[in-house]
Amino acid sequence: MQIVKSVAEMQSICRKLRTQDGMRGFVPTMGALHKGHISLIQRARTECQTVAASIFVNPLQFAPGEDFAQYPRTFEEDCRLLEAEGVALLFAPEAREMYPDGAVTTITVPGIGDRLDGASRPGHFTGVATVVAKLFHIVAPHRAYFGQKDAAQLAVLRQMVQDLNFDLEVVGCAIVRDTDGLALSSRNKYLNGLEREQALVLHQALVRIAKSIAGGERESSTLLQIGRNILDKATGVQVDYLAIVNAESLLPVVYVEKGTLVAVAAYVGRTRLIDNFLAA
Ligand code: AMP
Repeated sequence: MQIVKSVAEMQSICRKLRTQDGMRGFVPTMGALHKGHISLIQRARTECQTVAASIFVNPLQFAPGEDFAQYPRTFEEDCRLLEAEGVALLFAPEAREMYPDGAVTTITVPGIGDRLDGASRPGHFTGVATVVAKLFHIVAPHRAYFGQKDAAQLAVLRQMVQDLNFDLEVVGCAIVRDTDGLALSSRNKYLNGLEREQALVLHQALVRIAKSIAGGERESSTLLQIGRNILDKATGVQVDYLAIVNAESLLPVVYVEKGTLVAVAAYVGRTRLIDNFLAA
């Protein structure tokens, strides 16, 4: 696996790749890799001849006071995992390489970018859209793989790709969970033993809502109440949002249909966790 730190070098390698036939897949990450990330790599490997990944903890998507400084960084171990999965190219720039002095241009996806996590974390999706657009320009993949775990991010990026005519396909990949149901996340590393237990309530609330949908309940207000009852009883958990929305627009819906997004965000101790499912 070739590890590249400079934008110019990555662009030149990717330009050469473009002259060869074959599908190029790309998996952007912030590192601290777990089986969720690896599932994206494996999906890309099955669909693409060449797979590139990136590791970049993007300062632009963290607000002051958020966890940019503490965000887990496990670069050596990440490299071992990516190499073992057959990743050909790893782009791992420093922040000043991506945002040199004088860089001012950003990409905002109004509306969608202000909903769910965008409402709770103002400016977050501008940071995400800006870095992903830059990465797409540098890597120029045919396919880019993102986790359904970050459902709002996926909606924002799909909109950006459509609006700005990026010539690539965004592929959404299923959420990978621990055996007890907790969605894998690099931020799970922040949880102590008790918090790890408390965090399970996010999944439990979603499972309860999914069961009610399967049982025929389609009214969002009723389903939200069912989920809230479970979340509100949990100790150590502070709900940020529980929402039932259209998965593309992220706007609330009155009735759940197939593909409707049911999403939750909550603080467990000081750690903000998210989870979701798409209605069957
Ligand atoms: P991150 O490093 O947190 O920015 O995540 C990089 C990519 O991995 C994003 O597309 C995430 O949605 C995806 N991802 C993170 N956790 C999971 C998970 N548990 N299952 C599937 N994909 C995930």
